[in-house]
Amino acid sequence: MTSTTALMRLEGARKSFGGTPVLRDISLQVSKGEVVAIIGPSGGGKSTLLRCCALLETLDAGTLAFGDLVVARNDAAGRAAYQGRETLAQARQRFGLVFQGFNLFPHYTVMRNVTDAPLAVQRRDRDEVFAHARELLAKMGLEGREDAVPSELSGGQQQRVAIARALALRPDVLFFDEPTSALDPELTQGVLKVIRGLADERMTMVIVTHEMSFARDVADRVVFMDGGLIVEEGPAAEVIDRPREQRTRDFLRGIG
Ligand code: ADP
Ligand code: MG
Repeated sequence: MTSTTALMRLEGARKSFGGTPVLRDISLQVSKGEVVAIIGPSGGGKSTLLRCCALLETLDAGTLAFGDLVVARNDAAGRAAYQGRETLAQARQRFGLVFQGFNLFPHYTVMRNVTDAPLAVQRRDRDEVFAHARELLAKMGLEGREDAVPSELSGGQQQRVAIARALALRPDVLFFDEPTSALDPELTQGVLKVIRGLADERMTMVIVTHEMSFARDVADRVVFMDGGLIVEEGPAAEVIDRPREQRTRDFLRGIG
């Protein structure tokens, strides 16, 4: 895998909050069609890593690129220097983000939640955007719910709307931060099923998750993070069934 084929490339990423390092020299490349699961104990820096990739936080140091679009790279002082607004706006078109909470607009219908950004931000053709949204909602098992508002839906349905909304922008890569951790077990399964479906279609995804059997089945690669470091990474079955590092073993046994 060369850096030119990576849809997303992070190198030497560092981030501190108030002098406390949260990311310490993290490098992560994601190739087209690859599904990467990020696992690890709470407080290990997983959300911060995704938030930096999704331009919701800035790196202190490191390189961040989406394909050939370099968003940040170190200056002579070794500090991450970000490109201007236009480059950042371009980069934001290349990824979608799904959080733990569904973050839908509560007063918008399902349809408007999904079509708003493609129309307002991407200024795409209205008929094409609506047809695409209907197709995505059907794929999410939400046919017939286009006119509902979020409060009329279950948490699982709301999360599937959030996934449709992220996909509506036709991103290169989708980031998920614990997409099922706010859901009851029976609603979790419906959301995992649609993510599995996307993996089968070779959607490129980076998924922070506590669902180990899901990570093992769906991810190509598993990254174990602890203390702001990637402790271990490799093929999903290897890392989860035969972890090399003691810290990974402790975590998977439920001690970490
Ligand atoms: P994880 O998602 O693996 O649980 P996080 O990235 O949320 O880990 O958090 C890693 C560490 O960074 C934690 O100690 C957390 O308290 C701290 N942290 C995260 N975001 C902030 C912030 N905005 N300000 C200060 N500290 C933060
Ligand atoms: Mg988190």
